[in-house]
Amino acid sequence: MKAVFLAMSGLILFLCGCGGTSSGVARQGSQLPPHHLPDGHFKNIDTSCAPIRDTMELDSLVPSYRTKVYRLPIARGNEELWADSTASTATWIGHGTYYILWKGYGILADPIFSDRSSPVQLFGPKRGTPPGRNLDSIPVVNLVIISHDHYDHLDKGSIKKIYKKWPKATFAVPLKVAEILEGWGIPESNIIELDWWQSATAGPLKLTFVPCHHLSRRGLFKSSANSTLWGSWILERPKEHKIWFAGDLAMGDGSYYKEIAEKFGPVDVAFLPIGSYKPSRYTRVHASPRQAAQLHLLMGSRLSLAMHWGDFGMVYDRLEDPPKDLARARRELSIPDSSFVVPVHGEIVPIFK
Ligand SMILES: [Zn+2]
Ligand SMILES: [Zn+2]
Repeated sequence: MKAVFLAMSGLILFLCGCGGTSSGVARQGSQLPPHHLPDGHFKNIDTSCAPIRDTMELDSLVPSYRTKVYRLPIARGNEELWADSTASTATWIGHGTYYILWKGYGILADPIFSDRSSPVQLFGPKRGTPPGRNLDSIPVVNLVIISHDHYDHLDKGSIKKIYKKWPKATFAVPLKVAEILEGWGIPESNIIELDWWQSATAGPLKLTFVPCHHLSRRGLFKSSANSTLWGSWILERPKEHKIWFAGDLAMGDGSYYKEIAEKFGPVDVAFLPIGSYKPSRYTRVHASPRQAAQLHLLMGSRLSLAMHWGDFGMVYDRLEDPPKDLARARRELSIPDSSFVVPVHGEIVPIFK
């Protein structure tokens, strides 16, 4: 029975995607960038992600401690801003998904509209609140940005629906994620695939893919761990505004973010993850709300918007923990409440004020 328990727990963590471990360190080819391994896999080059498997079994003995999801409020209003081509807004769809309408140019970040974060919709973590806005209500999607291949960030059903509705949309993805999308029918000509620090143009925007301390895994086999790259995105309208979409990250030793801040800070808007950080060992792969607040300060963000909480039962923080812990961090770090906001599902927030 215990073996079944442990196997189920491992399966749930695999489906959640964001509770895994980094792969081991292999030989380094001198011609490769330092985060590329000779076998084609990738690794973090700041503090490595320590294995957490040794203590995972304790959690599996008390599965009832896992985050219980329930329905949160859904906001309506401000839709007139979507019709204003001079306005720029961000709308929290749920979890790590934001819809950014930047002067009429529509961007979906890490879109997941499906009921479950899973390769199949029969089992796996189920959302407690419907998406704050559905795809049919969104005015336009010109660009989709993907931070990494975990199921809660790269959702097959959502990608296929987006492409069907907006076949000219560009999909900007990390190295080695393009072939996943091509397998789902997205043409190569619609995809931009970047390594860390590489840039490309999409419509009026300059995109730069930048590092973050995380990992990747998609598939049952251990060989899929870190076989695709992970990271975060800087979006710029040169000489106007800058956005940092942080994706899914841990603080690591902070060196990635210091370098991003030196090269791109201050940013006008940062989208920062605040969930899946309890017990504390999960901060090896995720940021706590306090660390997110520190990143807000480090990047000189004028407005930060919270994400990566509130929908799927990933690890063991209670659903209400992230906003409460963020409020405490704001007080302790003297960050005005209006500078680091936790939107309600579906809330259309004006940005670049
Ligand atoms: Zn995640
Ligand atoms: Zn992840």
